[in-house]
Amino acid sequence: MLASYDFLAPGRILFGWDRRLEVGSHAAPLGQRAFLVWGSRALRGRAEGRQIVDSLLNAGLELADEALATREPLVEDVDQLADHWHHLGAARGGVVVAVGGGAALDLAKAAAALAVNRLGSSALDYLEGVGRGLEIHTAPLPLVALPTTAGTGSEATKNAVLSVTDPPAKKSLRSERLLARAVIVDPALTVSCPRHVTVHSGLDAITQLIESYVSRRSKPIPRALAAEGLRGAIPALPRAVEEPADRTAREAMAHAALLSGLALANSGLGLAHGVAAALGSLEGVPHGLACAVMLPWALRANREACFPQLTELADAVGLEAPRGTAADRFIARIEQLCLELQVPVRLRELGLPRERVARLAPAAKGNSLDGNPRPLAEAELIELLEAAW
Ligand SMILES: [Zn+2]
Repeated sequence: MLASYDFLAPGRILFGWDRRLEVGSHAAPLGQRAFLVWGSRALRGRAEGRQIVDSLLNAGLELADEALATREPLVEDVDQLADHWHHLGAARGGVVVAVGGGAALDLAKAAAALAVNRLGSSALDYLEGVGRGLEIHTAPLPLVALPTTAGTGSEATKNAVLSVTDPPAKKSLRSERLLARAVIVDPALTVSCPRHVTVHSGLDAITQLIESYVSRRSKPIPRALAAEGLRGAIPALPRAVEEPADRTAREAMAHAALLSGLALANSGLGLAHGVAAALGSLEGVPHGLACAVMLPWALRANREACFPQLTELADAVGLEAPRGTAADRFIARIEQLCLELQVPVRLRELGLPRERVARLAPAAKGNSLDGNPRPLAEAELIELLEAAW
């Protein structure tokens, strides 16, 4: 018997090499004035950035505003951009075009919602678990998302992760209305990623594929997508790192990241992402790096709770193992991948002092950790983090 479920996805997904050149024809039906968010100044200046602008202009759009995401977004960054767009009258024919990694996409998603949802005085009022719990009642400005890293899958999700400073935490602005109207995944945009971004964002995608697969909220369609994503990503990531221009490897990673976003948006995540949120908000560790360090620890901590699922994943990625050993073979394969990519094994290698380990545990609680295949009491989580230190 199959349990009933919902599956949510962006309005339209366009995948393929050089498909950024079509952005104008997909943005034009959604609005006449483009509000752009770039992940970096360098990207805006490169040929790919200029081609995106040209495509919008050639389709008859006016460039109403261009913003830059300089960091993983804070609530204040969103407030500032949403106010700016509101004053520019973005509700009249505005379409948001976001080109960048998870930070740029999340900033764009949140600002697109808050530029037209003005009941609160700040994004804080709409954040999950803090603030006043206001809802996104008005449809956000339509969003066209073009990811430039193969990692977060933010292009496919219904939430934007924002940092709150007092007390420090990462929280989600979450609404089905945040889903992009069009997503253009052009793997060519990821070729210029520096090595560390390829490694960390690639391991973020792999963490998302695994955690959504074994999640307590796991569902059939996301499981099929996650298995497919992992099959491609595990062999492709080292190739994309060694040979940045390897088209096949970049395509496999961009596809895996997209599938990871679709999977996590519908199935949730787990322990590694819970701790990554705490490492990000309290210690400033970049999201992908935090996930990469935590993934092997989370797999070992969840081994018994999701033994059958890990066995299925071993099979899905083509690992051969004697009967009853496939789950361990899968965990060992992930550990080997992290070693091969020179990811730190322990939290101390991130510069985290021993005395700050315990305070990660309360900050790790929340939506991601709730999806973990088994519940973890705070004392057990602290023990695990101390072992990982
Ligand atoms: Zn992630």
